[in-house]
Amino acid sequence: MRIEFATATRILFGPGVVLEVAPAAKGMGRRALLAIGCPAESAALLLEALKREGIGCVSLAVQAEPSVAFVRQGAELARAEQCDLVIACGGGSAIDAGKAIAALLANGGELEDYLEVIGKGQPLPHPSVPFIAVPTTAGTGTEVTRNAVLAAREHGVKVSMRSPLMLPRLAVVDPELTLELPPAVTAGTGLDALTQLIEPYVSIRANPLTDGFCLEGIRRVSRSLRRAYHCGHDITAREDMSLASLLGGLALANAGLGVVHGFAAPIGGMFNAPHGALCAALLPHAMAINIRACRARAPGSETLGRYETVARLLTGEPGAAAEEGIEWVRLLCRELQIPPLRSYGIREGDVPTLVEGASRASSTKGNPIALTPDELREVLTSAS
Ligand SMILES: [Zn+2]
Repeated sequence: MRIEFATATRILFGPGVVLEVAPAAKGMGRRALLAIGCPAESAALLLEALKREGIGCVSLAVQAEPSVAFVRQGAELARAEQCDLVIACGGGSAIDAGKAIAALLANGGELEDYLEVIGKGQPLPHPSVPFIAVPTTAGTGTEVTRNAVLAAREHGVKVSMRSPLMLPRLAVVDPELTLELPPAVTAGTGLDALTQLIEPYVSIRANPLTDGFCLEGIRRVSRSLRRAYHCGHDITAREDMSLASLLGGLALANAGLGVVHGFAAPIGGMFNAPHGALCAALLPHAMAINIRACRARAPGSETLGRYETVARLLTGEPGAAAEEGIEWVRLLCRELQIPPLRSYGIREGDVPTLVEGASRASSTKGNPIALTPDELREVLTSAS
């Protein structure tokens, strides 16, 4: 057995830890680019705290999933303002934007040099400038991952900038920052967290370290996502979901993902759809087809036992079968009002392109069993 595990240099978790951002930033730089995707009130508090520590700030509002052009402009702004530190506070979009800007700031050159798929995919020569990630949603786990997902609009795809040198210097996960999230965001991001715990758990790259994170995270989603959705101010439920998101990030960055994220990449590139809700719509169908394919072609595989473990954690039933886990997720998606894929405008004619995109996506390589093109099509159409 060989295991490699990499994560953010330092992780702070708990209600109120956001107060530690400014003192920690003091040791990392003098002037910060602050990528903001959180409500103005939280951003103002953070700005004030940074000023009190003598850190100059330049704000950059992140309103949508970052594009290649947005990151390029962000890096130019940071360079012109002589920033030597990047802080991102918000959902996955703000953190991915900040992460990519921090990398480009330290490396110069053209952003395309470092992009997968549409660029040269060159390795980054230098570590990013110090980067602090402060998530205000509970789902992406991007505060502990080594890639930033960027939209390449002119190519109709999402691409990653990826390097172990992009891991944040500090991840500050404060569940209190998620208390005001609206139910729809809680639902989509929370089911993204669940997907990012199930996919690494059944991934062909799963290892005992990531397994521990996944099992603990799935248990917490099972007991707290409904509560966080219906009673947003329940700090115990929010704490479980923030921790589940962090655990999912730790797992996916080291064990990979599967076909749900394989589809989320091309769909997200072609349609305007929130990543979490996309993953949620696909998850029960991907589980069903993976289980069916394993029963047919790999009946002795460990994967089936893993899906059974997932079902037992989700349902709380010690004798649950793998299929009961699928049903549990299906009912949860219904209760949390997850829209089907057709609501984003995906048409029959888009299916071949999306199936082709998913079969090439890096996430699909982690799927527990290689799916045929027909099975991939079935995942997509049954989620529509
Ligand atoms: Zn995801």
